[in-house]
Amino acid sequence: MANANVRVRFCPSPTGNPHVGLVRTALFNWAFARHTGGTMVLRIEDTDAARDSEESYEQLLDSLRWLGLDWDEGPEVGGPHAPYRQSQRMDTYADVAGRLQAAGHAYHCYCTAEELEVRREAARAAGRPSGYDGQCRDLTAEQRAAYEAEGRTSIVRFRMPDEPITFTDLVRGELTFTPENVPDYGIVRANGAPLYTLVNPVDDALMGITHVLRGEDLLSSTPRQIALYKALIELGVAKEVPSFGHLPYVMGEGNKKLSKRDPQSSLNLYRERGFLPEGLLNYLSLLGWSFSADQDVFSVAELVEKFDIADVNANPARFDLKKAEAINADHIRRLDVAAFAEACGPWLRAPYANWAPEQFDPAAWEAIAPYAQTRLTVLSDITANVDFLFLAEPVEDEASWTKAMKPGAAELLTTAREKLAAADWSSADSLKEAVLAAGEAHGLKLGKAQAPVRVAVTGRTVGLPLFESLEILGRERTLTRIDAALTKLAAAA
Ligand code: GLU
Ligand code: ZN
Repeated sequence: MANANVRVRFCPSPTGNPHVGLVRTALFNWAFARHTGGTMVLRIEDTDAARDSEESYEQLLDSLRWLGLDWDEGPEVGGPHAPYRQSQRMDTYADVAGRLQAAGHAYHCYCTAEELEVRREAARAAGRPSGYDGQCRDLTAEQRAAYEAEGRTSIVRFRMPDEPITFTDLVRGELTFTPENVPDYGIVRANGAPLYTLVNPVDDALMGITHVLRGEDLLSSTPRQIALYKALIELGVAKEVPSFGHLPYVMGEGNKKLSKRDPQSSLNLYRERGFLPEGLLNYLSLLGWSFSADQDVFSVAELVEKFDIADVNANPARFDLKKAEAINADHIRRLDVAAFAEACGPWLRAPYANWAPEQFDPAAWEAIAPYAQTRLTVLSDITANVDFLFLAEPVEDEASWTKAMKPGAAELLTTAREKLAAADWSSADSLKEAVLAAGEAHGLKLGKAQAPVRVAVTGRTVGLPLFESLEILGRERTLTRIDAALTKLAAAA
């Protein structure tokens, strides 16, 4: 569906660290904009000075860039509706709030929190709807003056229409909200600060947003926003009510909603573990959408080609870490070797690398990279898989040592050393033959014979294909490490 008129927005509040749910929202908006040839707007909803932070803002932009989710209008790129940070648009909101009041769409409410609570309780007890009861809807000038003389402060409330509000959600179809369930709501605080309920739809209107795609948690604010939108149309601020599509909840462990506070939901975690951006995007796109019945690994270009908001599923999506990893692994395999070697870069340096920079051997890295590429799930695993090539001595991993160095290990290692010393070091097959023969001499299958050799040489029981690893490490260092292991075994005996 090409439609260059499409204008979507991603409008995060810069609080805390970016999380999976937020990125899924950004991704669906972005994919829809790119699929239709429309415009992606990035707007920063930083009207809550107490919670917003500049650090969080920087992180958000950095995360979007890392993922390749670019924007056509917004911070740093500008655009016809600048500024795109709400903290810089306060005059606009004050102006609109004033016009809404002048036109009778909003009014001052002088009720105190305690009074509201008392009436709410009474309504509950009587089985009536317990939202705001409209007490200040039609105050006369005298009543207002009297309240003000008492020293009361007031918030500004939007006057909801008395009819039901119906709209067709792009994901869940037709929805109707009755007036009892959507009472008049605050749009400006007593201190004059505009609320999310006002600034979000006002900016959507001013920025010409055509499709609002956001999480299901915001569904209850949609009827309010539609009513506000209609008032804005009357005032000439908005042209038409946008379409809304609410993306399904994402469930985590134990079928509970994945929350921002869940460690699993932190975007930085995936980045630090070495997810590829395209692997993570691929997985996140499956939270509420599917590519096809028999394919769930695809490129970003394929996603863009296929993505349509109409195909998003209303049912809750389940976050499945194993599946995310499997998809990421597939994306690692899809890279060409040079791109893979490049992508591993950060984990071959401080602070991840456990070797000194001058110990790094580019030729050894180049030789081992293809073997690593077919085995890693996340890039951060590269460090432990190749450190044996760069460290002067292999890491000491007690658990691995205990597991592999069972009785008989010294005898096996002694024979393996002899056979390896005589092997052809230009061929991994010849090294395999050597260890195989050593195993046979002691009645051990290859797998069992291999384990002590692997631990002696790499320090660990699991790793990359052993014989290729030995070949790359070289004859001298391999034999020296086996000797050191034999010495250690002898000392323990
Ligand atoms: N700033 C809001 C949030 O982060 C945006 C909600 C919306 O998309 O309307 O929840
Ligand atoms: Zn009131």
